[in-house]
Amino acid sequence: MIKVAKFGGTSLSDDKQLIKVRDIIKNDDTIKYIVASAPGATNEINNKITDLLYLCYSSKKNNIYKEIFYEISERFKKIVEKLDLSIDLESELKNIFIDLENGCDEDYFVSRGEYLNSKLLAEFIGFDFVDAKDIICFNDDGFLNVEKTNEEISKILKDRENVVIPGFYGAYKDGRIKTFSRGGSDITGSLISRAVNADIYENWTDVSGLLMADPRIIKNPKKIDVMTYRELRELAYMGATVLHDEAVFPVREAKIPINIRNTNQPEGCGTLILENVQDEEKNRIITGISGKKNYTVFCINKSNMASQVGIIKNALDVFCKRKIAVEHIPTGVDSFSIIVSNNAVQKDIDKISKELKSNCNADSINIYSDIALISSVGRNIRNKSSIFKRLFSALERENIDVKIIAQGLSEINLIIGVDNKNFEDTIKAIYDEFVE
Ligand code: ADP
Ligand code: ASP
Ligand code: MG
Repeated sequence: MIKVAKFGGTSLSDDKQLIKVRDIIKNDDTIKYIVASAPGATNEINNKITDLLYLCYSSKKNNIYKEIFYEISERFKKIVEKLDLSIDLESELKNIFIDLENGCDEDYFVSRGEYLNSKLLAEFIGFDFVDAKDIICFNDDGFLNVEKTNEEISKILKDRENVVIPGFYGAYKDGRIKTFSRGGSDITGSLISRAVNADIYENWTDVSGLLMADPRIIKNPKKIDVMTYRELRELAYMGATVLHDEAVFPVREAKIPINIRNTNQPEGCGTLILENVQDEEKNRIITGISGKKNYTVFCINKSNMASQVGIIKNALDVFCKRKIAVEHIPTGVDSFSIIVSNNAVQKDIDKISKELKSNCNADSINIYSDIALISSVGRNIRNKSSIFKRLFSALERENIDVKIIAQGLSEINLIIGVDNKNFEDTIKAIYDEFVE
């Protein structure tokens, strides 16, 4: 049995959390490979080290960067002191500070949270340290080189066990550091799991598994015991931030189950994620609900649109040339909508609207900003019309106006759009209707 265990920032935020992690590892000798995040927020300190590193880097032009660097250093020093580690932290910190002063890349600088924390953890639990820069490989275009990464991990970790690897980053061919997007240590864990052919990928965090809704919105949401990769992917992509949505692919391909578990309650069995689930709970229609705020919807109106060949392509060209990713394209008879993030279009909104009108020869364009998309996900969603009926009745009772229905036919989810201000109330209404 080979397990890969990824411990998130919440699990490695201070000396007390590191002790919990050590105990988990001591009690399970099948954990052979560990992926570690940078220290996250603690009960006393609300700052994640990675946030501080980004802030420190962006403050380089003014003097507060030194104070921020001091704060970062103190967090690591405290762990070293409390756990009585012998690592030469002073030199490590000094080198990083010199690199900063000499104009190092941002990716390199912000990756140092994972780098240092993994070194501390490795010493504390008596594992070896293997640097992610040697095994997670990026192409020059900034995308992961999946094959090379798989090869390098297999090669370097073959015949080795009891290793700690920093999450979140890798390197280009020339050795420069490149990070994943935020929360990317989950992806590192998934890549390692596949390459070492793990039996299970454990993802240790600060909640008892994937919950049916964000616990910051719903008080004590029910835990999901088992679910499919597809459901996880939908929920994670749409805002269930407990796992990075891109972390699903490598393990799914290799059919390695993911187990999300709680470092603060290690006795719990967490959430198990598999390709298929034998359903005992057929009448549980919704597996989970998640959502994201801050979308803009461009609604392109054109009578007799169906006979206009290429009209959707013409509209998409407007976004494509600006490298703006399109989230959804719900279509009607005489109109269709393009949903993108607020941020991507904020600056150019008038220009985009004009271009859409002329490119599509449209009758009119309506723009709705500050829209939240909410996705209700469930492998047992079959009779969509009856589910929509319940969902709309629940929202009507709460006086919530549904602005958009963004829906593919064969999906396992129902996506609706509401005003940002109704985001939390919509999730509550759906949760109460389908769960309690
Ligand atoms: P880690 O530091 O372990 O990577 P994260 O902060 O990235 O942890 O993810 C865990 C957090 O995800 C939880 O504390 C919780 O607030 C949040 N979260 C959002 N949606 C969900 C959900 N559906 N289930 C569980 N946690 C969720
Ligand atoms: N430390 C990084 C972040 O905060 C990566 C991670 O935690 O997964 O985004
Ligand atoms: Mg995370």
